[in-house]
Amino acid sequence: MGRRVDRFVRARVFPRESVLDRGGPEAAEALGALRAEARAEGLWALPLPAGLGGGGLSFGAYAEFAEAEGASDHGPAALGSAPLLDVTMLARYGRPEVRDAYLERLVAGEIRSCYAMTEPGVPGTDPFRTATRAERHPGGGWLVTGRKWFTSGAAGADLVTVMARTSGAAGDREGLSLLLVPTASAGFRVVRELPVLGAPGQYEIALDGVRVPADHVVGEPGGALAIAGERLLLGRTLRCLRWLGQAQRAFDLMCERAATHGGSGGPLADRQLVQALVFDALLVLRTTRPLVREAVALVAAGRDARTEVGLAKVAAARMLQQVADSAIQIHGAAGLGPDTPLPALFRTGRAARILDGPDELHITSVARRVLRAYGRTGRTGPPVMGAGAIS
Ligand SMILES: Cc1cc2nc3c(=O)[nH]c(=O)nc-3n(C[C@H](O)[C@H](O)[C@H](O)COP(=O)(O)OP(=O)(O)OC[C@H]3O[C@@H](n4cnc5c(N)ncnc54)[C@H](O)[C@@H]3O)c2cc1C
Repeated sequence: MGRRVDRFVRARVFPRESVLDRGGPEAAEALGALRAEARAEGLWALPLPAGLGGGGLSFGAYAEFAEAEGASDHGPAALGSAPLLDVTMLARYGRPEVRDAYLERLVAGEIRSCYAMTEPGVPGTDPFRTATRAERHPGGGWLVTGRKWFTSGAAGADLVTVMARTSGAAGDREGLSLLLVPTASAGFRVVRELPVLGAPGQYEIALDGVRVPADHVVGEPGGALAIAGERLLLGRTLRCLRWLGQAQRAFDLMCERAATHGGSGGPLADRQLVQALVFDALLVLRTTRPLVREAVALVAAGRDARTEVGLAKVAAARMLQQVADSAIQIHGAAGLGPDTPLPALFRTGRAARILDGPDELHITSVARRVLRAYGRTGRTGPPVMGAGAIS
């Protein structure tokens, strides 16, 4: 299966990337064609539950080829695995009415979903300060009011999961809830697009008294942080796999260029400074992959993976940025122009160090967790990494 996915992404997705990157109706048409091809080849929604129309692969089995699928940012959308996080969350925590109404259609690609936690003017690293509020409506359900931004894929989404305060005051650790908001509801609007280093796909959204049915609360009122934490662990691990695939792609381009280009002194591959870039890129790829695999194994086994996912996320984001940057350097101006995917890979690497929590957040939380274990046990040796036992 991995080889077939790899072939599909290289042969079908890579050549359409420049159209897909631009967004708009042409991109939507290209994506539709890719999805039809993926379905026809039996490659659709492989990690999604079989009972809902997906391929039914476990996370561990999917992880074997998530790198190949994610070698293009468009791979997961083309192959139908993009809604994995929302489907997993709603299958576990959605009310039966919500599951019946949306899950099969999400898996089939008939409707799309997105996730809105981050807000303008509020540090995303501090969810307790969430300003969006949901008040109980006297006639039943909730009224949601607030702003969110950098909501990936909000334009064109049918559903958005919104984190909102349902009780308490800004800064309280309790009182945050997740509500599934149909974007067709009165009071929902996309305010503007927020290009990230020139690329489309991120949006600011407004919720002005949007009425949400009571059964659209995900989990229990007040239960947002546990669900969001679970979702983020899976999401970060998936991103790490995809970033590995993208870094491998940048590395391959870098080596091909070094081997085939050069001046009168011979190919770039003969230059020691170029060899050093290649060595450092290979080193960071090879040292990051086992960290990601360790995180995958713990997440797949349902064990505490917070330390390992934190390590993997920081390492994989830095790795993609470094490898894409070195590949651009070896290409010269061609690496910054429109003829290679390197600008997009570099952009993803740069954004990777901020989205799903910036590096600093992971560094401090992993370090704190490790140091707490020393304080508890009085141990003087290094902690046993990989056991996932450090909480
Ligand atoms: C491409 C992209 C896609 C995104 N998609 C989504 C999405 O779909 N849904 C969504 O809800 N959000 C999304 N985000 C938002 C993203 O998750 C947040 O940007 C991120 O969590 C950081 O929050 P913030 O931007 O508010 O930064 P802040 O919390 O304001 O932090 C700013 C900076 O302060 C520093 N800092 C923060 N905390 C610490 C600390 N403890 N120690 C030291 N320094 C610190 C760091 O340098 C950090 O980068 C996306 C962002 C990007 C770039």
